Amino acid sequence: MLEDKTDNDTHHKDDKDKNDKVKEAAKHLSELFKNMDGNSFVIPINGIPGEPPKPPSKDEQPEEEEEDVLEKIREFNLKPKEVKAHLDRFVIKQDEAKKVLSVAICDHYNHIRESLESEEPESAEYVKQNVLVLGPTGVGKTYLIKNLAKLIGVPFVKADATKFSATGYVGQDVEDIVRDLVKIADGDVDLAQYGIIYIDEIDKIANRSNGGTRDVSGRGVQINLLKLMEDSKVNLASQTDMMSQMEGVMDMMHGSSGKKRKKTINTKNILFIVSGAFDKLGDLVKLREEGSQIGFGRESVNNADDYYLGRSTTEDFIKYGFEPEFIGRLPVRVACRELLPEDLEKIMNESEGSILRQYEADFRGYDIDFKMLPSAVRSVAEKAYLQKTGARGLMTVMERLLRDFKFELPSTTVKSFVADEETVKSPVAALENILKDSEPADLEEAEKLIKTFIDEFEKLYGFKLKFTAAAVKEIHRIHEESATGVLDVCRERFRDYPYGLDLINKDNPIKTFTIGVNAVKSPDKTLSAQIAKIFKEK
Ligand code: ADP
Repeated sequence: MLEDKTDNDTHHKDDKDKNDKVKEAAKHLSELFKNMDGNSFVIPINGIPGEPPKPPSKDEQPEEEEEDVLEKIREFNLKPKEVKAHLDRFVIKQDEAKKVLSVAICDHYNHIRESLESEEPESAEYVKQNVLVLGPTGVGKTYLIKNLAKLIGVPFVKADATKFSATGYVGQDVEDIVRDLVKIADGDVDLAQYGIIYIDEIDKIANRSNGGTRDVSGRGVQINLLKLMEDSKVNLASQTDMMSQMEGVMDMMHGSSGKKRKKTINTKNILFIVSGAFDKLGDLVKLREEGSQIGFGRESVNNADDYYLGRSTTEDFIKYGFEPEFIGRLPVRVACRELLPEDLEKIMNESEGSILRQYEADFRGYDIDFKMLPSAVRSVAEKAYLQKTGARGLMTVMERLLRDFKFELPSTTVKSFVADEETVKSPVAALENILKDSEPADLEEAEKLIKTFIDEFEKLYGFKLKFTAAAVKEIHRIHEESATGVLDVCRERFRDYPYGLDLINKDNPIKTFTIGVNAVKSPDKTLSAQIAKIFKEK
C-alpha cells in the first residue's frame, strides 16, 4: 500500500512538473507574442534585440511535389549542355557563368546520386563544388541560380552576407539560412538537404583593413560559413526564431505521442553559391599582373574590370581579405560580365522572363494590347544602361515610363497601345495624345462610349441598360463639366446598380432597365424609389 501511495505521488509529481513546464512554456510564448509587431517580430536574446528573420518569399518555393524531386535527384541524369540550354532561355549573355554553373550543378547532383546508390562509405576526398560568382549588381547572378534550382526542383534561398554576424546576437546567425531552406521546403528536411543556398555580398565579409581597424567579425562569419559549407549538422530549432521555439513547445506539450520531427539537418549535400561585386579586386589583379605598368596595355580593353576580375586567383582573394580555408572551399569561380545596352535590348526581346513580357501581361489584364516598337526597346535599353544597375535599370526605366499609362488607360476605351521611340522620349505628351483620342469631344462619341459601358455592364452583371436621349445628353454634360471620361462617369454613377437591380429583379424576369435623365442626375435616389415601388406592389 505504502508503495502504491509513493508511486501515485510520483505520478502526481510528474504531472505537476509537466503542467508547470507547459505553463512556463505558455508564459514564454505569450512574452514572445507581446514582441510581435505586424508581420515581423523581434525577440530579445540576452536583452539585445535580434533582427527579425525575413520570411522566405513565395517565388522561391519549389513547384514540384517533394517525392518527384527526390526521385529526380536519385535519378539525376542531366548533362551540362542541357542545363545551359535551359538557362539560355532566361539568362542573356553570361555564357561562361552558365557553362561553369551547369557543370558544377551536374557534378554536384551526380555525386549525390552516386552516393545514394553506393553501399560504400563516402570518400572523404570529395570536395564539394561550391561556387563563387563574381560580378556587378543586376547582371543575372541570382536569376541564374534561381533558374537552376527551379530546373532541378530543389529549394533555394538567398541571403546577404552583410546580415550575418559572427556571434548571432546582432543580425542573423549564419545557420539561420539553413533553417530558412528547411522552411522553404515546408519543413521537409529530406528535400532541404539537397537544396541550394545563395549568399550575396560575400565581398563585404572580407577581413580587410578598414580605416586602420581590422574587421574581425568578417573573419568570424567566414569561419562559421566555412563550417556550413563543409559537412556540419545544423540544429533546426533556433533561439532567435519564434516558429521553431513554438514547435519545440508543441512537441513538449504533446510529449512523445506527437509525430517525431527531425531535429537537425546535415549540410553535406547542400550546394553553396556565393557572390559579390568585389569592387577593388580588379585593381589588385591588375597590380599583380602588370606591376608598375598599371594602366598600360589593358587600357584599350573594353570592360577592363571584367577582364581582371575574371583572372583573379586564390592569392588575390586572400589578399582581398579572405581566409585561405574559406576561399579554398569555393573551388569553382567565375565572373559575370557587365550588361551593355545591346545585352539589355536582347533581355527585353528574348528572355522568357523579360520585363517587357510582364508589362504586356499587365496591360492584357485590362484587355489592352500593349506593344513596344524595336526603336522604343532600344531607347529603354540605352536609358537603363546609364543607371549602372544592370538589368534592374530596365525595371526602373519601364516603371517610370509606363506608370501613368497603367493608371490612366484601364479607365479609358483604349484597347491597344503601341509605344514608339517618341513615347520613351516624352511619355507625358504621348499619354496626353492617347487620352485625348480616347475621350469624346462631342455627343456622338459620348454615345459610343455609353454603348461600351452598356456592353461591359451586361457582360459583368447580366443586365441590359438602355439610356434615353436625355440621359445621354446629361452624361455628356457631366463629362464636360467634370472633365471625367464618359466611361468613368457611368461607372461611378451606376456603381450600386448591379446590387439594386438584383433586388428589383428578384422575382421578376426583367433583364432590361431604362435609365432616364433623373437616374443620371440622382442615381441612388432613383434606384431606391424603384426598389421601394417594387416592394410596395408586393
Ligand atoms: P544580381 O546579379 O544582382 O543577382 P539579378 O539576377 O537579381 O541580379 O537580376 C535582377 C533581374 O534582372 C532578374 O530577375 C532578371 O529579371 C533580370 N536580369 C538580370 N540579368 C539578366 C540576364 N543576364 N538575362 C536576363 N535577365 C536578366
